Amino acid sequence: MSCSERNRGGGEEEEERRHEQPVLPRSVEMDPNSVSRNGSITAPQLTIDENLLVDPKLLFIGSKIGEGAHGKVYQGRYGDRIVAVKVLHRGSTYEERASLENRFAREVNMMSRVKHENLVKFIGACKDPLMVIVTELLPGMSLRRYLVGIRPGKLDLHVAVKFAIDIARAMECLHANGIIHRDLKPDNLLLTANQKSVKLADFGLAREETVTEMMTAETGTYRWMAPELYSTVTLRQGEKKHYNNKVDVYSFGIVLWELLTNRMPFEGMSNLQAAYAAAFKQERPSMPENISPDLAFIIQSCWVEDPNLRPSFSQIVRMLNSFLFTLSPAPPSLDSDANDAAASNENDSMNDLSARTRGKFAFIRQLFTARKTKNPQ
Ligand code: ATP
Repeated sequence: MSCSERNRGGGEEEEERRHEQPVLPRSVEMDPNSVSRNGSITAPQLTIDENLLVDPKLLFIGSKIGEGAHGKVYQGRYGDRIVAVKVLHRGSTYEERASLENRFAREVNMMSRVKHENLVKFIGACKDPLMVIVTELLPGMSLRRYLVGIRPGKLDLHVAVKFAIDIARAMECLHANGIIHRDLKPDNLLLTANQKSVKLADFGLAREETVTEMMTAETGTYRWMAPELYSTVTLRQGEKKHYNNKVDVYSFGIVLWELLTNRMPFEGMSNLQAAYAAAFKQERPSMPENISPDLAFIIQSCWVEDPNLRPSFSQIVRMLNSFLFTLSPAPPSLDSDANDAAASNENDSMNDLSARTRGKFAFIRQLFTARKTKNPQ
């Protein structure tokens, strides 16, 4: 079962879907005549399935809440729902317009295809009078702003691991749908209103895995990017796709490091210096001394140079969940013998659990070592 289906059903979700009736996710189609024989887009005739369209008359745009390279984001209202409205740049020349419409089609297509509680919910789109994407509004600010706001403090370990699991689950869903995000970083992660969960936003730069189109190396931010995305060793003109969805695993490793340290990766370096250090000197952010060896292992396996040695997001979710179990719960009150006994039993079972999960980690470590020996770099 795909993650888009897995999250359907259930009373609350059912109720929510009733409100979303006008814009049931389907597909965006490109006129086949617009694609030339070499695969380039000549004159895209964008058609969006009418079930994906929002009625512009019911859409109200309020104050601006953010801005990206490709458009501005506003708080708004669609009917009686508070929403986020992304108004995309249209472009001035014919070519620019065609390419932006193509990008718009792709973004709408992707957002309508996938559904997961840790992905920002797609509500609908419209092309005229403005090119607009409507999504649920995440009022809890971006993870970037949140982390900067608590500096020099750090996230509580439970919270950091919980956020990491949210992100890994969102990515697991994208990958299950053949989508590579390629721009996973704290700016694209938004906190829910209660700031207890994180959702992944901005699929704008995502591409379907089947698309062999070459990417340009200036996308995203180098600090979070897997070296194989921009390294000149692998990036040669005309070369077919030279990376796979493990580029997102690398970025996740950097994000997990940030969640645990609340520091900027490659601090003190410019974007280009960071890129050079990661790609040509195999440098990575330094691991704090007090970090749990299990978490250090997860991070290091995510940002290892050989993409084939990086774990999948399903494995990452499992490893993080196992780690979460090993964390001690809040200390019980010790004011009675009964509580002492309960606490001691609980500790025993936690120790058992820790031993079991450590066993699991040991198994995964062995796998990694075996694969590394088989594929020496
Ligand atoms: P682009 O791919 O267009 O360059 P971007 O990553 O620069 O995109 P946008 O998706 O345009 O960013 O979003 C810009 C900012 O708007 C985000 O950093 C976030 O603060 C805010 N934002 C975006 N979507 C939402 C949302 N659904 N709810 C709340 N805030 C949002």
